[in-house]
Amino acid sequence: MNLHEYQGKGLLKSYGVAIQEGLVADSPEGAVEAAKQLTAETGTEWFVVKAQIHAGGRGKGTVTETGSHGVVLAKGLDKVADIANGILGGHLVTAQTSDTGKKVNKVLVAQDVYYPGDAEPEEYYMSVLMNRETGRNIIMYSTEGGMDIEAVAENTPHLIFKEEIDPKVGLQGFQARKIAFNLGLSGQAFKEMTKFVFALYAAYDGIDAAMFEINPVLKTSDSKIIAVDAKVSVDESALYRHKDIAEMRDTSEEDPVELEASEAGLNYVNLDGNVGCMVNGAGLAMATMDIIKLSGGEPANFLDVGGTADAERVEKAFRMILKDPNVKAILINIFGGIVRCDRVAQGVVDAYKNIGEIPVPIIVRLQGTNAVEAKEIIDASGLNVHSAVLLKEAAAIVSEVLA
Ligand code: GDP
Ligand code: MN
Repeated sequence: MNLHEYQGKGLLKSYGVAIQEGLVADSPEGAVEAAKQLTAETGTEWFVVKAQIHAGGRGKGTVTETGSHGVVLAKGLDKVADIANGILGGHLVTAQTSDTGKKVNKVLVAQDVYYPGDAEPEEYYMSVLMNRETGRNIIMYSTEGGMDIEAVAENTPHLIFKEEIDPKVGLQGFQARKIAFNLGLSGQAFKEMTKFVFALYAAYDGIDAAMFEINPVLKTSDSKIIAVDAKVSVDESALYRHKDIAEMRDTSEEDPVELEASEAGLNYVNLDGNVGCMVNGAGLAMATMDIIKLSGGEPANFLDVGGTADAERVEKAFRMILKDPNVKAILINIFGGIVRCDRVAQGVVDAYKNIGEIPVPIIVRLQGTNAVEAKEIIDASGLNVHSAVLLKEAAAIVSEVLA
């Protein structure tokens, strides 16, 4: 689950990570109030107004309606309202969003931490994530902060460093010092960086994060080390032990169909193709998508209805798939292990009748317990449903109906 920058920064701060302070607002007036309060708290007179959406690249992104960027410097309190007005309510298009962009409901009004006239603000990149090959967390960092890290990886891979953490002993002092050293720091900034790295890793560990990306980490000319941006993603499987974080979920940022699916307990991911699939089990779903491709189609979605695949879930799944206008056929591939195929077949027939007319052909392949009885139920239903027992047969029917 992804968090907004302001939420991520709040969590980082609670673990002692130095952040660019800010307050969130959902109206231009609120933004002005936030700015006044920030001045009272930090003394800052300049602010950065930052669109809060679940996507990066906001600084270079553009709000379609107003032409404003998604991160704008306000050189004084009197500039804040206009700038916030140019961002709030609009759609921000960045390199990481679709062409229509994402609606901006909130802005973070933050203190300007790049001091006017600062000769040498340094920007670094730092992320914490799991290295799946070794099963260990790594801290990835670079002197080339503030820019697209993929471009750095492409053009100057030697400027990206990795530090792997042994879960038995945790992050060690020598590792934090090595990071500060590789970033070219000395003196006070060196000390601040080791503190920053320790606090950051403690936060990652403490909130059961899946990924942290802090780009940029800023070194000010007076040797402070500050998280200016924060992309924080938490492990959904661990949310049960972080009720406060679970409440930070912003469903308006999520794909509405995927959200509906997750509420119904279905595992659904929207894709670009033309063949909808309904499968029980994630592995079988992956194999089914391969078969669809081999038979000349493109999967329109990944959908795992889970082990039970009863009539209610099948109906729900049908309705999800049919929301996608690109779907030209639906392939149902169920393996009856725990669930009996004849019950699934009956579920398909019942769901079909409940929904009314389904405008695309349906290919059902049921294999396992009572597969033959299941095929009889489908064949006798008189509906626009093709049955198959072998996956090969199902694939052949898919290519036939698409042709
Ligand atoms: P992103 O574009 O979505 O990654 O958003 P960031 O939070 O990284 O902000 C984009 C850029 O805005 C940063 O790389 C900085 O160069 C700039 N920026 C952020 N905070 C400040 C600030 O306090 N003062 C100034 N002058 N620039 C800032
Ligand atoms: Mn950034």
